[in-house]
Amino acid sequence: MFGRLLGNVSHRVPSCLNQVLLTMKPQVVFVLGGPGAGKGTQCSKIVESYNYTHLSAGDLLRAERAREGSESGQLIDNFIKEGKIVPVEITINLLRKAIDETMQKDEKKFRFLIDGFPRNEDNLQGWTRVMDDKADVKFVLFFDCGNEVCINRCLERGKSSGRTDDNRESLEKRIQTYLQSTRPIIELYEKHGKVRTIDASRCVDEVFADVKAILDKEG
Ligand code: UDP
Ligand code: MG
Repeated sequence: MFGRLLGNVSHRVPSCLNQVLLTMKPQVVFVLGGPGAGKGTQCSKIVESYNYTHLSAGDLLRAERAREGSESGQLIDNFIKEGKIVPVEITINLLRKAIDETMQKDEKKFRFLIDGFPRNEDNLQGWTRVMDDKADVKFVLFFDCGNEVCINRCLERGKSSGRTDDNRESLEKRIQTYLQSTRPIIELYEKHGKVRTIDASRCVDEVFADVKAILDKEG
């Protein structure tokens, strides 16, 4: 009986395994911090050494803004320039699509760094509504950096980034949004013991050494 069962099962193992991998829930690390804290830079370094896919909510929104025929292009453009946070319906669809597409192409790519999201209560509610049962949030990587350093880095980046929001006027607004809307989200996760804080005011390699220590410990 057992032998027969095993016999039946054995030829199915590969497809069963495949099924397990296919249904593997996305494992998510949220990457937060002020504008210019170094989220994107550090995420690029992480994907070089770890099996993560980097999804920047800001980059996805900028791509959607540039997509021909996009119904949200103008709205996204206004929100970004004003340093305001785009309604989550738009962002969550872009994130979900990017996660789905990544895992459809390669089912082993189930680890994601979601950079610059969730930035406010609306973002968090949207995530909970759409993704809570579809993905596991492992922790929040928080790049902690003073406002002055953040502003100076973005102004420096603005010389070549071509971004419509790397100027002093937009930056003041982005910092306000960060302090008023994003910090409370980080604090919420902190209460649940889910935040890993890194002093992001130092140079790239020093910050990355701390990032590595965290990822080596908790994947
Ligand atoms: N943005 C948004 N929702 C998001 C992520 C970004 O509305 O989930 C908008 C927001 O206007 C923000 C801008 O995109 O100020 C730039 O975000 P990005 O993460 O690219 O900036 P960074 O923090 O990396 O400097
Ligand atoms: Mg960024």
